[in-house]
Amino acid sequence: MSASQRALVTREPTRLRAARFGGQARAGARAAQLLQKLGLTRDWDLLLHTPQRYRDESTLTAIRDLVPGEEAQVEAVVEACQVVFRGRRQLVATLRDGSGELIVRLLHFFPSHQTLLEAGRRIRAMGVVRGGWAGVEMVHPQLRAADDAALPDRLTPVYPTTEGLPQAWIRRRIDRLLATAVQDDTLPEAVRIEHGLPDLATVLRFLHHPPLRTDLQALAERRHPMWERLKFDELLAQQLALRRARQERQRRAAPAVQADADRAGLTGKLLRSLPFALTAAQRRVWAEVERDLAASVPMNRLIQGDVGSGKTVIAALAAARAIESGWQAALMAPTELLAEQHFLRIEQWLAPLEIEAVWLTGRLRAAERRSALQALQQGRARLAIGTHALVQREVRFANLGLAIVDEQHRFGVAQRLALRDAAFAPHLLMLSATPIPRTLAMTYLADLDVSVIDRLPPGRQPVATKLVARRRRDEVLQKIRAEVGAGRQAYWVCPSIEEGKNTEASAAIRVFEDTRASLPELRIGLLHGALAPRERSAVMQSFVQGQIDVLVATTVVEVGVDVPNANVMVIEDAERFGLATLHQLRGRIGRGTQRGACVLLYDEPLSEAARERLKIVFDSNDGFEIARQDLRLRGPGEFLGARQWGLPLLRFADLERDQQLLERARQAAAALLLQHPQAARRHVQRWLPQATEFLDA
Ligand code: ADP
Ligand code: MG
Repeated sequence: MSASQRALVTREPTRLRAARFGGQARAGARAAQLLQKLGLTRDWDLLLHTPQRYRDESTLTAIRDLVPGEEAQVEAVVEACQVVFRGRRQLVATLRDGSGELIVRLLHFFPSHQTLLEAGRRIRAMGVVRGGWAGVEMVHPQLRAADDAALPDRLTPVYPTTEGLPQAWIRRRIDRLLATAVQDDTLPEAVRIEHGLPDLATVLRFLHHPPLRTDLQALAERRHPMWERLKFDELLAQQLALRRARQERQRRAAPAVQADADRAGLTGKLLRSLPFALTAAQRRVWAEVERDLAASVPMNRLIQGDVGSGKTVIAALAAARAIESGWQAALMAPTELLAEQHFLRIEQWLAPLEIEAVWLTGRLRAAERRSALQALQQGRARLAIGTHALVQREVRFANLGLAIVDEQHRFGVAQRLALRDAAFAPHLLMLSATPIPRTLAMTYLADLDVSVIDRLPPGRQPVATKLVARRRRDEVLQKIRAEVGAGRQAYWVCPSIEEGKNTEASAAIRVFEDTRASLPELRIGLLHGALAPRERSAVMQSFVQGQIDVLVATTVVEVGVDVPNANVMVIEDAERFGLATLHQLRGRIGRGTQRGACVLLYDEPLSEAARERLKIVFDSNDGFEIARQDLRLRGPGEFLGARQWGLPLLRFADLERDQQLLERARQAAAALLLQHPQAARRHVQRWLPQATEFLDA
């Protein structure tokens, strides 16, 4: 236990103490506030607030036998106690049992401590023994009067807590609940027995108060059989929520979107007008989307494809299909830059087909915005492309039949769901370049159908990646000169520093100045998030049209940007980027038929972790492999970005380790919904109150 934790255990907090004098009600309110800080609002949350460790208070050690450095409990009589000044005020008591003398030292103390340590009282002190100059001592041991209780016959829980909330208080509170609240087991007995799981009350009592001599290592690592039940319940709740979301959706009416030869035949025209033929992978995915669109339940499909695999054209085809069937379509992108790129490209594809598209972001002028909204509401505009401005309240579609969300992992689930309404749900198509490993897909995305574009368009050459130390920057400049000389363009990417747009911009501006000085004969452009949108799009357009040779940019170019002639990318301070970002960035190049080159510039010396990360990107061009490694290094919580996929991440179960349990939970979820719908509902409510809100909304 660290010093600060120990302090939490023993120090009596000022605020709660003050509250105690102020009356029960205030203390209760204050405690509730502190509990909330720990995320504990319901009784159930408290029951799941499992100990961070346990203490064995079942034995007493004679003072003579105390070993410095070890934790022990003694029972002894206070011989003397006084406040002394040794640099600061402290309370020092001398304790004596039949075998020797122990000093107890409190650096923070309250009158209650002085009462407890009055001379003549028999107390128990538990703490780490220190060898002081005058004999053994304990600093801030846990203290209690000895006369009140027999020694416990179970391990004592030590809970995670927060400043102001004493251990003893949490312990009492949880014990009270253990005695009453756990009677309600949401898992029907038959299901429980079928899966060989213990009942909930037994499990919770065990985890809060394990018997002496329990395998604490197994308990700490959640390998202990008692954990199995909680992990199962957690996975089950998630599977139930996902299944219910799916059922819910399937009860809704879908827009009928069918190929119709008599009508405009837009998709056919679009296919014929493309400058390329679809790959086999794209054809397969388009067929899946086509089939979903024609079905009577709303589509809920995720297209996964590595960067550059050609997801946009599938989105455009789906939009054309919706439009030719008389519906409107909307495409939402996570950044303004990307939305604009989509708009320009898709408009270029669709304009010859006489489809009116509008463009909607948060930064439109009032008049432009008004006319765009009107065009959508009156149904004149058949297609809307934009940022999350599309899901704001004022945006009304005449008849939205299809919503497309690009780079969907960047949106929260709330935004994803906002494109629907209650009785009627447009088809939903999501695109993502972040590959989700199978286990995650099974849990977090179990309510989605997934199509994978598993091949890049033909003629692509894998990007050659190089790791280059910053002191060799000159060689990189040479390389850029040569590439630009051969008619290509380059990106020069600077890290986006979290603190804010200004620092981020200033890093980019510095690199921009450097690069301009080093390559005076080239046309250098600068793109960062702090530019006004108009400037940004002007710079991007010049780059697209080849009027800029080297584009110095922050990660605003990370997603979606598509300039096939730009074939070299330098990433500054590459060690500061995450794996997914590096892969996304690199995906901007190698889009033409020439072999692209990506230079990862790093500062020496590299940390072990940074070296490992860079090596992964160096070794592989495969987004799935990189994602797997990323998952391995960071764990699922970090990997997905907490809550981004809409359901809370797992707290007890571990997807890698508990795969079998996950499989069983999946089966149980199906059975439970059929045979015990009420129990299923209560179970989800208990474990995932937020998900219940979503589903009932
Ligand atoms: P992403 O899947 O990363 O969104 P894009 O849709 O931006 O990829 O496509 C990447 C590039 O590949 C674009 O320039 C696009 O026009 C081109 N492309 C897409 N499909 C094909 C294809 N079948 N053959 C050749 N080029 C294609
Ligand atoms: Mg894309």
